Amino acid sequence: MAAILRLKRGHCRPHPWIFKGDVADVGDVEPGSVVTALDSAARFVGRGQFNPGPALCCRILTREDEAIDAAFFERRIDRARARRGDVAPTAARRLVWSEGDELGGLVVDDYAGTLVLQCLTLGMARARDEVLAALHAVLGERAVFAVDDPVAARREGFAPRHGWLTEPGAPRAVVEEDGVRLAVTFGTGHKTGLYLDQRQNRARARALSAGREVLDAFSYTGAFACHAVAGGAHRVVCLESSPDALAAARENLALNPGGERVELRAVNAFDELRRLERERARFDLVVLDPPAFARGRSTVDAAARGYKEINLRALRLLPRGGHLMTFSCSHHVSDAHFEAICRDAAADAGISVRVLDVLSQADDHPVLLEVPETRYLKGRLLEVR
Ligand code: SAH
Repeated sequence: MAAILRLKRGHCRPHPWIFKGDVADVGDVEPGSVVTALDSAARFVGRGQFNPGPALCCRILTREDEAIDAAFFERRIDRARARRGDVAPTAARRLVWSEGDELGGLVVDDYAGTLVLQCLTLGMARARDEVLAALHAVLGERAVFAVDDPVAARREGFAPRHGWLTEPGAPRAVVEEDGVRLAVTFGTGHKTGLYLDQRQNRARARALSAGREVLDAFSYTGAFACHAVAGGAHRVVCLESSPDALAAARENLALNPGGERVELRAVNAFDELRRLERERARFDLVVLDPPAFARGRSTVDAAARGYKEINLRALRLLPRGGHLMTFSCSHHVSDAHFEAICRDAAADAGISVRVLDVLSQADDHPVLLEVPETRYLKGRLLEVR
């Protein structure tokens, strides 16, 4: 029997997160185990995993009166798989995306058959074996690599796993994204290896690349650049400060025809954008995909200044008819705020801009209306008028 967590009056919401301040009382719960949440009138609210440590102490996983066990994970994972449909065996995709798939705290990515699993909460870390069994039941025997996030692990109080959870699979995979080949060495790099959330935006960039000069700022392992080349870009310049990311980018360029049209620059993108502006460089398409500048609410103002600066400089590199694909993955910068920052940047640059499209994360990162945090990637495709 799950322990009972009683919510304070008025603290019952459709949002799955329960904060310490929402809780009237909670029984003697082993950290990371399942609780049954009741409202102030003792009505059933849902069931979730509880952790007395962090302020966000419970994530509701179900609104139904069902056990959270291996069979539950199997049903949820099967639904996540069905939602995405079949993809090519060489593809990379996000299979389970935390709250977006009603499995808050769990991420599972599929890299051409090898699964990469990330636990973000103590509850999910404790349930890892059940999740693993459920993955095998739904997908068959697969090699699974763990890449728990050390920051989340510290906040939640568990030992992050890093390495194979099953018999070791191949250490490296080459996945295909619309014919572009990208290498992933498990356990290295950011996220689970690739920024799968940008898959559809990379296709968009590719469609804008024919015969053009492209700047891929904050390029990581050069995925946008590889797509630009596949789309017929005349030349691509990548700006990236991490030597590891640059080494992986070199590997990706070698895997794809036309890689010699890409120049990798080991630079601070802020400085290089300023320098390019000074030397009056010109590009037809600029991609700005920086890391999250706002890590918390308190840093939103500084982040906004950072976003504004790079967007202003990027706009100044574009001729009339040129395109800027610009992103923010900061949770604390809303979509409306991001557009306002782009507007400020264009105003300061004295450039009139048409918004061709509103961009977001790939559709294997599903968004729940009641959980605004699930739409974390904001972007705009802008055209200089
Ligand atoms: N567009 C990429 C993902 C970019 S992630 C893709 O589709 O795969 C952001 C990248 O910016 C990271 O690789 C990080 O190393 C790099 N970065 C962070 N700060 C930087 C800076 N000041 N200058 C250049 N690169 C930076």
